[in-house]
Amino acid sequence: MKVGKVVLTQNYEEESRLETLLQRGISNGVELERIPETELRFFEPLARTHGSFLWSPHTSISDPQLVNAALRQELQANGVQFIPNSLVEIKNQAWTISNEIINARYFVNAGGAWALDLAQKVGLGLNYRTMPFLGMYRQTSISNLPIKTLIYPVPHSINPFLGVHFTPTIDGNVKIGPSALPIIGKSQYQLMSRVTRTELVTFGQNLVSLSKGSKHDLFEMMKYEVPKLSTSNLVRASSKLVPRALQVNAWTKKRPGIRGQLIDGKNGELIQDFLIEHSENSTHVLNAVSPGWTAGIPFGRSIAQSVLERLSKTS
Ligand SMILES: Cc1cc2nc3c(=O)[nH]c(=O)nc-3n(C[C@H](O)[C@H](O)[C@H](O)COP(=O)(O)OP(=O)(O)OC[C@H]3O[C@@H](n4cnc5c(N)ncnc54)[C@H](O)[C@@H]3O)c2cc1C
Repeated sequence: MKVGKVVLTQNYEEESRLETLLQRGISNGVELERIPETELRFFEPLARTHGSFLWSPHTSISDPQLVNAALRQELQANGVQFIPNSLVEIKNQAWTISNEIINARYFVNAGGAWALDLAQKVGLGLNYRTMPFLGMYRQTSISNLPIKTLIYPVPHSINPFLGVHFTPTIDGNVKIGPSALPIIGKSQYQLMSRVTRTELVTFGQNLVSLSKGSKHDLFEMMKYEVPKLSTSNLVRASSKLVPRALQVNAWTKKRPGIRGQLIDGKNGELIQDFLIEHSENSTHVLNAVSPGWTAGIPFGRSIAQSVLERLSKTS
């Protein structure tokens, strides 16, 4: 459903970053407009901005589960076989499921937060580490906060995560978030759940790596992220964009998500773009940054194209 998106500023300094965002979007072929603050009420009456805002008319929302189910149906109809709930492992350079070797000419590893583990088994991505981040959102009924569009802040100047934003959802709610907290385990959906000794050691090594990075500020990141675990702090942060959020009391927690963030092990920098590496018979998606789902179809098409090109060279 096409609802559009506004990107707002909170001070003079953010205005220049808004311009950078506009120019970057235009150079990538995105239809965008920079509009003075006085006109914001025609696009999103509940939002506030400092001097101007960006308007993206084609931004849309959808239900990922329905889209994925439709894709699966279409692929199955074209002969693609799905093997759910099966762990792929690489043992002695052989790709396996339940110790059975998979008979395939080429493999694509799109294992999300686990992709690097598989890649390293074939000697790729050895300089990288994966730090899992927990993302949490709160939601309320759209009748409590009747926004019309997606409402985003300008991205932070040095930290790589999306600032607190508002998303109207297909099922009639509004969600605010995320929080982005470094966590110990890649499956640690509850902060208090058990973690293994190996995960603890890896987490410590990840923190040491992260502390070396010069383009982000780990201390500032934690100072900003940890308070957002509390609903009242998250709502307060969001009210800078939509003051009326403070009047809503009925916020519920949404199921959290985990995203793996790639870190360059040598210099501690966070990898902020898609990162793909290849071996002779495999392609590995090591970093599929947000909005990875939105970009999924063209990104998948470009991976498929590159695999076909690589196969045509070896046949
Ligand atoms: C809280 C949250 C909110 C987000 N919101 C948005 C949004 O609004 N819009 C957007 O575009 N993006 C959003 N993203 C980002 C988006 O979810 C990711 O960019 C995207 O899911 C990455 O896709 P992927 O296929 O690389 O990894 P994943 O979606 O993580 O998929 C990897 C899959 O591989 C499986 N797997 C891993 N290892 C193995 C193995 N060895 N054997 C078998 N299976 C394996 C995993 O179980 C998983 O199912 C959000 C992310 C989070 C955490």
